[in-house]
Amino acid sequence: MQVYKAPLRDMRFVLHELHDSAALASLPGCEELSQELIDSVLEEAARIAHEVLLPINASGDEEGCHYENGVVRTPKGFREAYATFRDGGWTAIACDPAYGGQGLPESVNKLIEEMICAANLSFSLYPGLSYGAYRELHAHGTDELKARYLGKLVDGTWSGTMCLTEAHCGSDLGMLRTRAVPQPDGSYRISGSKIFISSGEHDLTENIIHFVLARLPDAPAGTKGISLFLVPKFLPSEDGRPGARNGVICTAIEHKMGIKASATCQLTFEDAAGWMIGAPNQGMRAMFTMMNTERLSVGLQGLGVAEAAYQGAALYAKERLQGRALGGAKSPGPAADPIIVHPDVRRMLMTIRANVEGCRALGGWVARSLDVAERSADPATREEAENFIALMTPIVKALFTDLAFDSANLAVQIYGGHGYIRDHGIEQYVRDARIPMIYEGTNGIQAMDLVGRKLGAHNGRYLRTFFHPVAAFIAAHRDDAAIGALVKPLEKAFGALQLATAQIAQSGLRDPEEAGAAASEYLRLFGLVALGFMWARAAQLAAERLPQADGEAGFYRGKLATAQFFMERILPQAGALFGAIKAGKGAMMAMDEALF
Ligand SMILES: Cc1cc2nc3c(=O)[nH]c(=O)nc-3n(C[C@H](O)[C@H](O)[C@H](O)COP(=O)(O)OP(=O)(O)OC[C@H]3O[C@@H](n4cnc5c(N)ncnc54)[C@H](O)[C@@H]3O)c2cc1C
Repeated sequence: MQVYKAPLRDMRFVLHELHDSAALASLPGCEELSQELIDSVLEEAARIAHEVLLPINASGDEEGCHYENGVVRTPKGFREAYATFRDGGWTAIACDPAYGGQGLPESVNKLIEEMICAANLSFSLYPGLSYGAYRELHAHGTDELKARYLGKLVDGTWSGTMCLTEAHCGSDLGMLRTRAVPQPDGSYRISGSKIFISSGEHDLTENIIHFVLARLPDAPAGTKGISLFLVPKFLPSEDGRPGARNGVICTAIEHKMGIKASATCQLTFEDAAGWMIGAPNQGMRAMFTMMNTERLSVGLQGLGVAEAAYQGAALYAKERLQGRALGGAKSPGPAADPIIVHPDVRRMLMTIRANVEGCRALGGWVARSLDVAERSADPATREEAENFIALMTPIVKALFTDLAFDSANLAVQIYGGHGYIRDHGIEQYVRDARIPMIYEGTNGIQAMDLVGRKLGAHNGRYLRTFFHPVAAFIAAHRDDAAIGALVKPLEKAFGALQLATAQIAQSGLRDPEEAGAAASEYLRLFGLVALGFMWARAAQLAAERLPQADGEAGFYRGKLATAQFFMERILPQAGALFGAIKAGKGAMMAMDEALF
């Protein structure tokens, strides 16, 4: 049986202690936000995750979605769960109060997203895409479209999708063929086929609002000729209810490795009525609002699954009796000790824990920046936060999801054969954790985004938003009695990152293949340093608070031990990554294609 309890204590640590939630209240729209209010929202979200979403995670995986004659049914219990979720106002949590939203900041919303993903990743995709659609329309829609659609996306009676992928184009959207023909009334007729569309058809909401990339008749080739359109499944009637059926048909659903309760649909658009979002041929630009929202959310999908896998594995490791501790029996009564006594099992548990808590802390920093970017009254502060988010988005997406898959895999290993069979529900996490590495731009594409677009942008302005605070922290704490020993490995890894950055900047300018060859290792190196920075800061706080912690001493001791593990056993990978980056493209590109 799957177990999951939202890690509320760690979430509070990230939100209130590490990223100082009290400062949130200085942002416009957050004045009423108190620690008590935030905690009670998190507790209520945890209750929904535990009581409503977790119980249908394994059964949803077992049953999957059903397709018949264009109609898609979600597995048993999903409709009821969605109704509870919607009626509880969870679709509206971070939306604009002007459209019925609750206006909570992303710092809180992202923790709730993590809980939903941990409890039921398949379920999370339905409201997750709707939230992306809401943000897209809110940022780029006309007043008329906003008035017609936003309230329904916010209250969750309608849901959203993003329709980019076609059979012949996934990463390379410049090749897409779906067409949009202008109509005299200002609308468009959309025709074409999309594949792999999450939540493209389902039975949870009364209408589905698709955000579709398509080409105008006279559009230039490539990504510069793509426009974005809003295409509803049902055309809203005057009273705001779903009216006539639009020309969008679900022709099949995919049978896949994981997230089986998430409907992944093939959609055909046949002269479907649509309305343009943003300017003609500027669709990719507009779509990036939704894509960037989803990329951060996909990172949190990984984090949630990894946390759930960790909790199962930790519990199992304390219960499963096999072998004796190397230093002599720890539980002489029973015939064997629990497997948590074995260093190799500890290695696996500590690795997952260090990665999960590190990612949660880093996600909290990015979420805080989202709030600042959206709400700060000061343009320069907003711009700095935007630059930081732009830099970190590919890292959150790719690092979190890579580590999540590794974590779920380690969790299965901790269960041994009992993890490989289905009974404990642990193998589902491996299957579910695989897709976040692929969709929303593969992790390879994220790495290319980091080295190609973010690294050199504006003479390093993006980079400085990260490098400066890390350098300042190291300078201030390298000689600390309490945490100096943990800061030194960070300083070393940061040095490697700086050298790697300079090397890629130089060699990549000379030869773009050099940047491409270094990209994935560079993203991992960057991510490890970012996690190292989070762990150093967490250790500093824990060391400060431990002496007066009383009942919480165990929590802070756990933080210090995990920080030490990260610095000593994970962060040194930075050296090996730097070695690979330094080697350049040579061996990678040398072999003749025919020899593969
Ligand atoms: C379950 C599921 C749900 C999905 N949901 C949606 C959705 O809701 N909406 C939607 O529009 N799409 C969705 N997708 C599609 C998904 O985003 C694409 O599968 C993904 O972007 C990769 O495209 P592709 O599969 O065509 O792979 P390809 O683009 O063919 O890539 C194949 C491999 O080549 C690599 N590659 C390609 N180009 C480059 C390059 N320039 N440099 C380096 N490496 C490169 C890739 O990293 C990858 O390893 C979903 C897919 C799945 C499986």
